[in-house]
Amino acid sequence: MEIQLIEKHKEKDTVTFSLKDATPAFANMLRRYIMEEVPVMSIEDVEFRKNSSVLYDEMLAQRLGLVPLKTDLKSYNLPEKCKCEGKGCASCQLKLVLRAKGPGVIYTSEIKSKDPKVKPVHHKMPIVKLLKGQLLEVEATATLGKGKQHVKWSPGHVYYRNKPIVEMAGEPDAEAAARYPYIFDTKGSKVVINKDMILKYDVLEDVQAATKGKVKVAEKEDEFIFTVESFGQLEHADMVAEALRIFEEHVEEFSEKIKKT
Ligand SMILES: [Zn+2]
Repeated sequence: MEIQLIEKHKEKDTVTFSLKDATPAFANMLRRYIMEEVPVMSIEDVEFRKNSSVLYDEMLAQRLGLVPLKTDLKSYNLPEKCKCEGKGCASCQLKLVLRAKGPGVIYTSEIKSKDPKVKPVHHKMPIVKLLKGQLLEVEATATLGKGKQHVKWSPGHVYYRNKPIVEMAGEPDAEAAARYPYIFDTKGSKVVINKDMILKYDVLEDVQAATKGKVKVAEKEDEFIFTVESFGQLEHADMVAEALRIFEEHVEEFSEKIKKT
């Protein structure tokens, strides 16, 4: 199998790569493992000392849980795999505090974390609007968890499609090029297809319509164009590497179980 980088998009926090000599089963495994098995930190328990805002405790707790937190996988264990056996200790839990006073909108930047490596990814996410005299005092506990338990523990979004193969049976005309400027480039008097665009985006139907069938597009069975979009807790490379490491661990566990039976 071979991985080749196509594009890294900093603003959208996505990375696109091609996966050569793979099967649909492998591509689907990779997608599911990244989204559902790679753990990230998220607020799980919230203790309210004061809350005179218009939102109920439950609603605020829900909002806090969905705040993406920068995750440091080296320093924390999953609660069920921790030496404390899930009771809670410094290796599997992190305390965060939010103290705010109205008036004003309270943003995620006001959440104080005891670990500088684990803090909200985005600073300008609104949590609640407080009126004059309203108070909020909260102590929250964040833990590692997996996307298959709750989406708040998912590190990102992953999607893929088969690599398209473009077959030219004739020249696209200038009129088509003018109508679909994002698919075609003009080189002098010649009209050429922008192959980069076809790799990155699903514009195949447009291509066929624009060239009135002169250009045929097929799909490569064993090559996939993969896009990994991070919600910000982890880097893309770590998301992919961690997914593959966990998969390997599961295969090991499975083969051990088979040997015992
Ligand atoms: Zn622990």
